[in-house]
Amino acid sequence: MTWETILYEEIGHVARITLNRPQTHNVQNVRLILELDEATKKADSDSNIRVILLRGAGSSFSSGHDLGPIPGDDLQQDYRERHRRSVEDRFEVEDEYYLSKCLAIRNLSKPTIAAIHGNVVLAGIMLACMCDLVIAAEGTRLWNPSLRHCGTGGEVMVLPFELGFRKTKEYLWTGDAIPIHEAERLGMVNRVVPDDQLETEALRLAERIALMPPVAVGITKRAMNKAQDFMGMAMAFEYGFVLHQIVHATRESADWNAEAAKHSQEKGFRGWLEFRDGPFNEQAKKE
Ligand code: ZN
Repeated sequence: MTWETILYEEIGHVARITLNRPQTHNVQNVRLILELDEATKKADSDSNIRVILLRGAGSSFSSGHDLGPIPGDDLQQDYRERHRRSVEDRFEVEDEYYLSKCLAIRNLSKPTIAAIHGNVVLAGIMLACMCDLVIAAEGTRLWNPSLRHCGTGGEVMVLPFELGFRKTKEYLWTGDAIPIHEAERLGMVNRVVPDDQLETEALRLAERIALMPPVAVGITKRAMNKAQDFMGMAMAFEYGFVLHQIVHATRESADWNAEAAKHSQEKGFRGWLEFRDGPFNEQAKKE
């Protein structure tokens, strides 16, 4: 596959992989997910590479999944048909593109760093959290409003392990944005840097880790990932994914989507957003 949505650079021992759909805030369509999988595996198997750095081109890291039609894109069309066909098809396609591809990044043998900025929404958070370290620009907007549209917080239930369970419930049950310094305080983000220093600081951190003995680094990563798995993360991801599929199939979700569709028909995506977020914005105005 020739990569259309990913840029790949080697900078010394660092592979810098850039999500490159800046015109869409790097929403992850099927092609990007597949290309990212290939690019990260290429870096992981290249003996010259010691650290993998992931970032987004343009004004955002990633604004989530791209579920819409893309004219002429057969991969996207196939995904959409399978997603709609039946509960079991949706289960399979979400496992293939979301759960398994995310875990493949999480389980790469080499250390990974996400450099995040701008909008980091829904699957953008999921992707960043698959990386070992996260460095964020001051202006990063972390937002997971999925429960407002009858989701569960994502196909991979990362947030409780990043923010703690009580804070996760608060953010998921309100759909409010997670302030970036709060994310840092709670351990989701290693450090926050001024917007104009993200590029240099992320590369500097990657190059610093690349100075370490790579075998020891890889083994400590493996040990820590396994410790998280034994602490329940692997099972929680699996169970959370299955329940996520049930939520897709609930009556509540069907009713909400039917109502939202009327608003999109009238006013497009803006209407959909107004339907979803309007009650929350109105409540905030009253305060
Ligand atoms: Zn889903």
